Amino acid sequence: MSKLTFGAGIWHFATYVDRYATDGYGPPRDLIEMIDLAGQVRDLSVVDINFPWSADVSADAVETALKRNNLSVIGITPEIYNREFSRGAFTNPDAGVRRRANEVCNQAADLVRRFGASYVKLWPGQDGWDYPFQVDHRKLWRLSIDGIGELASQNPDLKFVIEYKPREPRVHMAFDSVARTLLGIEAMGLPNVGILLDFGHALFAGESPSDSAQLAIDHGRLFGMDVNDNLRAWDDDMVAGTVHPIELFEFFYTLRKNNWEGVWQLDQFPFRENGVEAADMAIDFLKHIDTALDRLDFEALQAAQDRQDALSAQKLARKALFGI
Ligand code: FE
Ligand code: FE
Repeated sequence: MSKLTFGAGIWHFATYVDRYATDGYGPPRDLIEMIDLAGQVRDLSVVDINFPWSADVSADAVETALKRNNLSVIGITPEIYNREFSRGAFTNPDAGVRRRANEVCNQAADLVRRFGASYVKLWPGQDGWDYPFQVDHRKLWRLSIDGIGELASQNPDLKFVIEYKPREPRVHMAFDSVARTLLGIEAMGLPNVGILLDFGHALFAGESPSDSAQLAIDHGRLFGMDVNDNLRAWDDDMVAGTVHPIELFEFFYTLRKNNWEGVWQLDQFPFRENGVEAADMAIDFLKHIDTALDRLDFEALQAAQDRQDALSAQKLARKALFGI
């Protein structure tokens, strides 16, 4: 078994609202409470933290809470997707709001330095459009590229990762797929911008997450990943391995085949489940995947793939993963 590091978005340990349960699926939790819950997960080492924080939470308090839970920070996710940015962050029609997005991201960059984290995670969930004729597509895409490019140029010592997703909250997100995100990153032409590939977003986008990973790796842009599961029609953020175990296995096979090294991160939203239990369950399955990769006959699988022999390839994968 390889030496793995597991992580989670701190929001995994929040309580949530949706457009029906507007009073929430549980009482609100503050960031410190979430960190203390993350600390209860058996094998969690790193967390991705949203920013800004409420006025009563200081960076020192966050640092203390992380320490007592043996956690460190992998990324800071600036909240460029809340009400202030409802018409976009980098692509907002108001130049003042675009400036504000840049400021929040630069504050997140400072926190990445302070916590020794790996990257600023950009999830431009409001950058996109809803209706036909709503936007000038050339201008919107240009603003997407320029906004992130400016930020990355201002902070050449840091990495910026873009997490793409087809839609939600915007009906159509500008960074909607692996290919389009790579196109945007290539247009920026900067070494410090990459992709954070969310397994569930790739499923939701109609991609094969394994193929998406390979494409991002081949362009030298796979900077991070997170896993979860869904029914392919929405970003359900269910427990990793519960719906698409064989595709999850293929995803990690591709990472191992390419000697990709990084944190195995969870991005799950256990609306009705116990968050600690949901994280433990996912990590147990991820560990199983890792040992299954040790059992997998990579050479025989390569030979089967070279013949496009689907059944032999499936048999090898199933044997390693399910023991059948
Ligand atoms: Fe994610
Ligand atoms: Fe998501």
